[in-house]
Amino acid sequence: MHASSRSAVSGAMIFYSEFDDYTAWRDAMQARLPDLRVVHGSEDHDPASIHYALAWKAPLGFFERMKNLRLIVNLGAGVDFLVGREDLPAGVPITRITDPNMARMMAGYVLFATLRYARDIPYFEAAQRRGEWAYRHPRSPQDVRVAVLGLGELGACAAQELCRQGLTVLGWSRSPRSIEGVECHSGMESLDTVLSRADILVVMLPLTPQTRGLLDRERLQLLPRGAALINVARGALVDQAALTDLLRSGHLGGATLDVFEREPLPADDPLWAMDNVLITPHLASVAIPASAAGQVADNVLRVSQGLEPANRVDPARGY
Ligand code: NDP
Repeated sequence: MHASSRSAVSGAMIFYSEFDDYTAWRDAMQARLPDLRVVHGSEDHDPASIHYALAWKAPLGFFERMKNLRLIVNLGAGVDFLVGREDLPAGVPITRITDPNMARMMAGYVLFATLRYARDIPYFEAAQRRGEWAYRHPRSPQDVRVAVLGLGELGACAAQELCRQGLTVLGWSRSPRSIEGVECHSGMESLDTVLSRADILVVMLPLTPQTRGLLDRERLQLLPRGAALINVARGALVDQAALTDLLRSGHLGGATLDVFEREPLPADDPLWAMDNVLITPHLASVAIPASAAGQVADNVLRVSQGLEPANRVDPARGY
């Protein structure tokens, strides 16, 4: 159900993000909930007045004194910075943003990176640097197998977009999923087979105790020689040292990396200088205030009316 946006809301909302535009979020929230007071985490405020938090990577201790907190909205899709921390008041529901526009932005990035490999663009980029007309006949899209690990809000949307390009798409998730045109697999027992068939591997899993380090050296070696890896999820899902070695040895043909074990990626990291690596600074997709503020406002109203918020994260599951 949609809670009515006309209702009054008690308490204030605190905002924290070093990346997102505070003014845009405050204005978007207040356009929907004129009674809601929004304060920035750096402004003077009475912690007891805070009922709602809209936060991305808030420093440890941030939530500690907010004894009347009733809802924490993660200002993004990945909640690994939030679940499991010790400064959260017990029992406060955590929700996350699941916005179709965020999924579309992510699918656009994945599509770009995948097609770049499927169409051998890095090969032509290198040939151009040598001033060489190096004809290589294009592969037929269905001959390129792309495996998408994680078929959630973002992964499923990206997998569908890849299908639309005529690529052969394999998907992998924890529980069985069905997506038209995608050969879906689930569970640990099928992971190695999926990896061994992937010309291009797209990582779109949440970071949880189960997925941390999932793509270790042994599993990365299961990828066919010359395969490409695209990681838009979290750096710690992949053994970065093993990835670097395999990119050096040529076992992996290339990687497009938006996320890293340490961010910002340290200046002396060898990945920076590798010709077969494309690096972007964690921005494959972002929450867009104009389109996502509606669901945040709706959840604020639900909670203020004693209802269960939508898009609730299960801290025990980790996503
Ligand atoms: P969802 O929670 O909607 O989906 C997660 C998917 O991963 C589900 O299909 C889930 O399986 C699967 N999964 C979870 N744990 C396991 C496991 N142990 N084994 C197999 N599959 C598993 O996440 P989103 O699609 O919204 O986002 C994915 C991640 O993308 C986020 O967690 C975040 O880290 C990252 N992200 C990165 C951004 C960037 O800019 N680089 C921006 C936004 C998000 P099941 O379907 O069975 O539940």
